Amino acid sequence: MNALGERIASLIAAQGPLSIAQFMAMSALDPQYGYYTTRDPLGLGGDFVTAPEISQMFGELAGLWCVQAWFDQGRPPHARLVELGPGTGSLMEDALRAAKLAPEFREAVEIVMVDANPALVVRQKARLANAGVSVTWQAQFDESLCNWPLFLIANEFFDALPIRQFVQTARGWCENMVTLDANQNLALGLSPDPLPLNIPSGRGEATDGAVYETSPASTALAEEIGRAIAMRGGAALILDYGYSGDGFGDTLQAVGEHQFRDVLTRPGEIDLSAHVDFDALAHAAKRGGAVSYGPVTQGELLTGLGILNRMMNLQRQNPGDREEIAVAVDRLINPDQMGTLFKALAILPHGAPTPPGF
Ligand code: SAH
Repeated sequence: MNALGERIASLIAAQGPLSIAQFMAMSALDPQYGYYTTRDPLGLGGDFVTAPEISQMFGELAGLWCVQAWFDQGRPPHARLVELGPGTGSLMEDALRAAKLAPEFREAVEIVMVDANPALVVRQKARLANAGVSVTWQAQFDESLCNWPLFLIANEFFDALPIRQFVQTARGWCENMVTLDANQNLALGLSPDPLPLNIPSGRGEATDGAVYETSPASTALAEEIGRAIAMRGGAALILDYGYSGDGFGDTLQAVGEHQFRDVLTRPGEIDLSAHVDFDALAHAAKRGGAVSYGPVTQGELLTGLGILNRMMNLQRQNPGDREEIAVAVDRLINPDQMGTLFKALAILPHGAPTPPGF
């Protein structure tokens, strides 16, 4: 067991089992050993590759999506462009370059990057040093970002937020907890007492063994974003791997060095994530007073935003990279690759036009 594992084990020995959400939060954000406080998951030899790293077209289209929403809402002269979990900063770099088509937009927005990872913040600062706009950073989303129209992008951010898991048993829904086995190793175990749960009706029948996941941190944040957009205007584009509709399932996963790993061993050294429940985010945004669109698949969104035209233009400008550009687009939109598993949700104020791609 690693040092963070030892620390979690002694906490459990002293205070009893932890929820999976508590375990994920410690694994991600422990100041000394946490995955997102101490590691660069996207670095050379990192743990995973994301859409903005696959092609510049992804960030360009996300940026133009925000520009269009800003035009649709009457070009508010003071607005914020916020990215949650910007990784290496490449999405924002590509978005801002594309937004040069609308210099008024670049002048109107104050750009805020929200990231808890100091190593990634260093990379983001270097990346945006020549973007020609002023950018500020903060570790968490908060109220200070809610007093102007809010244009927000979050790619592969919500999957990193902690989830709780509940399992249907003969006794009712019991919480899946992180506890200790007979050898004092971390192990999963069900809470002895069942909990009363309000399962959304769209999920269908749960049989014994069904797993139901919630992410209180995600829904609280989506509600806050929805409230800000409902009150001040703006638009949010949330992209991630995830699901919508009926069914149950365990989606908690650990990834290290591009491979699936055991969830409990090596906390803080590997990436823990879960598929995003888009219906839960949509409901939360509506509770905040906003309107939601989608989810649509990433393939539908990018195709609707014109990625195939953009691809042909790029290929004309870079004939030597024709094949590489086509392969990147295929990775992003092909249903067998990221096109269907990845989905997009939009959050807008009542009365705003339907956003492009939805
Ligand atoms: N959006 C980027 C990076 C995805 S990785 C891309 O698509 O390439 C997840 C990002 O969210 C990282 O930048 C990570 O540091 C940040 N992050 C994860 N959990 C966070 C939290 N609880 N608070 C703030 N930032 C977080």
